[in-house]
Amino acid sequence: TDANLFTALRAAFPAALDEIAIECADGDRLNYSWRDLERGTAMLANLLASLELPPGSRIAVQTEKSVEALLLYLAVLRAGFVYLPLNNAYQSAELEYFIKDAQPAVFVCAGQHFGWVSKLAFQAGTQFVFTLNEDRTGSLLDRAAHHDDRHEVVPKAASDLAAILYTSGTTGRSKGAMLSHGNLLSNARTLKDYWDWQAGDVLIHALPIFHVHGLFVASHGALLNGSKMIWFSKFDPRAVIRRFADATVFMGVPTLYTRMLGEAALTPAACARMRLFISGSAPLLIETWRDWQQRSGHLILERYGMSETLMLTSNPCKPQDGARKGGTVGPALPGVGLRIHDDEGRPCSVDQVGHIQVRGPNVFAGYWQMPEKTKEEFSADGWFKTGDVGRIDAHGYVSIVGRSKDLIISGGFNVYPAEVEGFLNELPGVSESAVIGVPHPDFGEAVVAVLTPKPGATLQPAEMIASMKGRIAGFKVPKVMLVAAELPRNAMGKVQKKLLREQYAELFK
Ligand code: ATP
Ligand code: MG
Repeated sequence: TDANLFTALRAAFPAALDEIAIECADGDRLNYSWRDLERGTAMLANLLASLELPPGSRIAVQTEKSVEALLLYLAVLRAGFVYLPLNNAYQSAELEYFIKDAQPAVFVCAGQHFGWVSKLAFQAGTQFVFTLNEDRTGSLLDRAAHHDDRHEVVPKAASDLAAILYTSGTTGRSKGAMLSHGNLLSNARTLKDYWDWQAGDVLIHALPIFHVHGLFVASHGALLNGSKMIWFSKFDPRAVIRRFADATVFMGVPTLYTRMLGEAALTPAACARMRLFISGSAPLLIETWRDWQQRSGHLILERYGMSETLMLTSNPCKPQDGARKGGTVGPALPGVGLRIHDDEGRPCSVDQVGHIQVRGPNVFAGYWQMPEKTKEEFSADGWFKTGDVGRIDAHGYVSIVGRSKDLIISGGFNVYPAEVEGFLNELPGVSESAVIGVPHPDFGEAVVAVLTPKPGATLQPAEMIASMKGRIAGFKVPKVMLVAAELPRNAMGKVQKKLLREQYAELFK
């Protein structure tokens, strides 16, 4: 039987193909019916098939967010090739790395970048470079328009590669995670059930589609449920809040929630029709979780996942699955194995902090062209080492404490940045904090905090250091606290600690 993910998604389309599948809330406000999805992906798939590419060819895509870009993703699945999305913030140095690494047969870029992108791509052996613009112009759609709007899905095995997703590069160079049709479909089915997708659900899609969250979790969720999406090509807090009246599900990274909290229009009345607010990709501050409950009347459901494994844990949605607990990412999803091991590889006890390891049908096939790295990141008994540090409570709820690469060892003691950040965030006037380890002649690494003030507040580092001293062990108290206007973040709202460590590397030299 055919395990192509597209086959499963299309099987979920409603019988009434003329109903709206995607309603664009910004731009020129076009509507796309399910028939448009069916025909548009068929024409694009026929175009790809006409290029006579070898099996397994990568189709790399760096464009603005658009419905056509989503159709292109679906068409790549449909035609049996491998989709490779790239963050649209990446510039020439980054693109050169990705193109050389992935060797895509086809590259689709924005028209304005065609000159330099095609030069890079052709040099690396790419055969075809197409353009796709936000306003639906460009050579990709021009060419696809000449192709038949019927196409037979190319059958795939569950283990066949469907996509390569480059990790966000938070801890080092981005790695290409190879995801199969089976990885994607099993995770989408698990989430459909666990998040209780229902007839009549409508998703507000306001995330980028070059990343797991927007491309897979959000899009697959709606498509596999035959649900309409209200599509924002750019996040606009006020406009999104306005559309809560027409929707039931919203997915966002924490920064989207904090931005909406800044809008007076966010009220329980504005959110009365909504069923579910989901957050992930970066830690959600407990303060944001509490503020959101007050302002909207809803408990945000936080979940945890990564490019290599898709979704791993989630707070419950249905009451019978348990309570939603702020500050945790919930229990392991059904079918996902999750365990915590100490530095020596022994299982941790309840509430003991250690390294998170996982296994399941959602876990990727390995890093693209990095067999050694892949081997290193799996335990001898086949569990994937996530690189995240956390603990599990007596009820099975997981809390993320940080990343093993961010762990600070100061004077021989382990310091978990997230624990210290939790205390710092409670201090008056502090908006956000990032705790990092900086090379130090005596301690090896010294704990350093970078803080952003709340609007109008002035922070007094010396007083704050003194007030921390009675509350937590001396070795955890930051030696230096620095005040900054904002923390460096990437498009997914992840704090770039790597950049902070580089910036302050010489602090104690
Ligand atoms: P790289 O692997 O290149 O360093 P990255 O790990 O940031 O980058 P992604 O795969 O995009 O790349 O992100 C996955 C990571 O995001 C997880 O390993 C985890 O650290 C973090 N993350 C995701 N969801 C949550 C969450 N709810 N709370 C805390 N952290 C989260
Ligand atoms: Mg990672």
